Amino acid sequence: MMLLIPGPVQTDPRVKAAMAQDIAPWDNDTRPRYAAMRERVRAIAGGLAGTHVCLPLQGCGHFIVEAALRSFVPPGGKVLIPSNGNYGVRMTRLAREAGRLPVVIEIPEGQIVTAEAVAKALAADTAIGVVSVVHSETATALINPIEAIAAAVRAAGRRLIVDAVSGFGAIPFDLAAHPETDAIVFSSNKCLEAMPGIGFAVARIDRLEACAGNAGSWSFDLSDIYRHALTHGWGSIRFTPAIQALAAFEVALDIFEHEGGQPARLARYTENARVLWDGLVGLGLTPWLPRDRQGPIIVNMLQPRDPAWELQRFVDLLKRRGFLISNFSTTAVPTFRVAAIGRVFPEDMVRAVVAIGETLAEMGVRKREAA
Ligand SMILES: *Cc1c(COP(=O)(O)O)cnc(C)c1O
Repeated sequence: MMLLIPGPVQTDPRVKAAMAQDIAPWDNDTRPRYAAMRERVRAIAGGLAGTHVCLPLQGCGHFIVEAALRSFVPPGGKVLIPSNGNYGVRMTRLAREAGRLPVVIEIPEGQIVTAEAVAKALAADTAIGVVSVVHSETATALINPIEAIAAAVRAAGRRLIVDAVSGFGAIPFDLAAHPETDAIVFSSNKCLEAMPGIGFAVARIDRLEACAGNAGSWSFDLSDIYRHALTHGWGSIRFTPAIQALAAFEVALDIFEHEGGQPARLARYTENARVLWDGLVGLGLTPWLPRDRQGPIIVNMLQPRDPAWELQRFVDLLKRRGFLISNFSTTAVPTFRVAAIGRVFPEDMVRAVVAIGETLAEMGVRKREAA
C-alpha cells in the first residue's frame, strides 16, 4: 500500500526497519546521536549555532504549534493569526484555549495571506506582540508568501512564529535571514519522511530566555526543554520520547541528506505534484486551485458532479489498487486530495493517476467537472 496523504507519509523501508529495536533514551550510546540529530535539524532550518537551538517535543505537529504559542505569546497577550484554511483555524483555537487573545485576519480559502494585510493589522493594533502564520496551508495546497510576511513583521518590530509543519524540509525558510522569527515548528512525519511521534521547534535562544515562564504548562514549555538541555546536556531527553521514532528519524535524515537536502526534496515533490495535476486534469477532473497558486505538497481536485461519485467508495476502490488517499475534504467546497509528499516518486504518481482513472471508470463517474 502506498500512502498519498499529507502525513503521516509513505516512508522508506530503511526508516521503518530502524524502529525494530529496544532503546534506552538515557543510554550513553543514544545521547550523542540524539544531540547530533538536533544539530542536523537546526542546520536544515538555517539556524545559527549560538543563536538558535533545536527543541524536540514528544507528540504531533499540533502539540508543537501549541508549545510555540504558549512559549512566545504571554498569557493574555495578543497574537495576530492570518487565517486562510483549516490550520489557521486550528491555530486560532489553540491560542484561545491557551488563554491568549487571537486577532484573526479572515482570508478566503484559496487566497494567500498578503504582507499588506499583516502590516495593516499590526499598524492598527500596537498591542499585538506576535504574528503566527501557517507557511504551507495543508488544507488547500497554498503556500503563503512567508518572506514578505516576515518582512512586514520585522518592519513593525513584532515577533513571528511559523507553522511549517507540512512544508519543512522541502519549502525553504532560512532562519539565519529571519531575526524576527522566534520559532519555526514542524514534525517528523511530513516532508522529513520519518515516523510520527516528534514535534520540533527551532527557536531563538534570546527569546527562549526572555519568554521563560510564559507557557503555563510544564509539558508544552519550550524554554523548559531548553533549560533541560543546559542542565542535563543536549543528548538528554526530557521525559520519555518516542525513542523508536527517533531512531527512524536519524535514518530519515541520512536519506534526506543523501538525496541532496531541501532543494532535491522540493524538486521531487514539485515534479510529483505536476504529474498528478496534469494526470488528473487529463482524466477530466477540475483542479481546485489555479495552477499558479498550486503548491508542491498536495493536489486538490473538485469532487465530480456525477451521481455515481461517492468519496468513501472512491477511496476504498482506489485502496484496492494500492493507493490510499484521505477520505475527507479539507476545503469548504468538496474536494479530494492526493499528496505529493513522502517517499514517493514521479513514476509512482503516474501509476496513481492510472489507478484513479480505473477507479473512476469502475464507479461509472462520467461527469468529472466541478461539483
Ligand atoms: C499536519 C499539520 C499540522 C498538525 O500536525 P499533526 O501531526 O497532524 O498534529 C499543523 N499544521 C500544519 C500546517 C500541518 O500540515
